[in-house]
Amino acid sequence: MTQTDPLPNGAAVARRILTLMRERIEGAEAELARLDGAIGDGDHGAGMVRGLRAACAAADADALPETEQAAGAILVAAGAAFADAAGGASGALVGTGLLTAGQTLGSDPCSSTALARALAAALATLCALGEAGPGDKTMVDTLHPFVQALGEAAAQGQAPAPAWQAALPAAQAGAAATAAMVSRRGRSSRLGERSRGHLDAGAVSMLYMLQAAGSALQAAAPND
Ligand code: ADP
Ligand code: MG
Repeated sequence: MTQTDPLPNGAAVARRILTLMRERIEGAEAELARLDGAIGDGDHGAGMVRGLRAACAAADADALPETEQAAGAILVAAGAAFADAAGGASGALVGTGLLTAGQTLGSDPCSSTALARALAAALATLCALGEAGPGDKTMVDTLHPFVQALGEAAAQGQAPAPAWQAALPAAQAGAAATAAMVSRRGRSSRLGERSRGHLDAGAVSMLYMLQAAGSALQAAAPND
């Protein structure tokens, strides 16, 4: 195995990513509800849990035809189910992001450059749909720096798992930075200056999902 080889069995990795995301968000449901409750309506934890449970069910091997068992197709099915089930702003945004990542990955092997390309496409769709950019105090503030860092690590030839790990600190810093921002998008934007001093719930859930995906990639990485 060279450093840049794709992960073997991308489909299993995609399912593992979704499962670990669901477990991580289930564990954080109360925290996400509290964060959204401070500057929104408090439903973010419940919505994300609903969405990820539906995504995992849709990604199950028995739920998909034999022709749609590649990592890309699994993420497409998961994203559509997430968007249907989660509701709220984040339902459409995260669901469409997952779906776009899956469409972009297609049947490509899970190399770090393919993953970076898929995540960059997800970010672009999410920003277009939400009309949001970095600094607006949303989930974009976590995903944008992560995508940049992942692209750099992939360009340096790092394998998927280490490239993802190398990019996580940028996501963590991005999520933390939302506390100092004034919201310009979504429900919390109605509070204006009063939204400052609170973390954005969607930025935090995005961080947790990226961390969970990183754990799944590490578990799947070949040891040699
Ligand atoms: P709702 O506001 O409909 O209750 P959720 O509570 O499910 O939605 O999700 C709120 C999160 O969605 C916010 O914390 C923010 O990260 C994200 N969000 C809301 N609006 C937008 C937008 N226009 N663009 C990007 N992200 C957004
Ligand atoms: Mg909400």
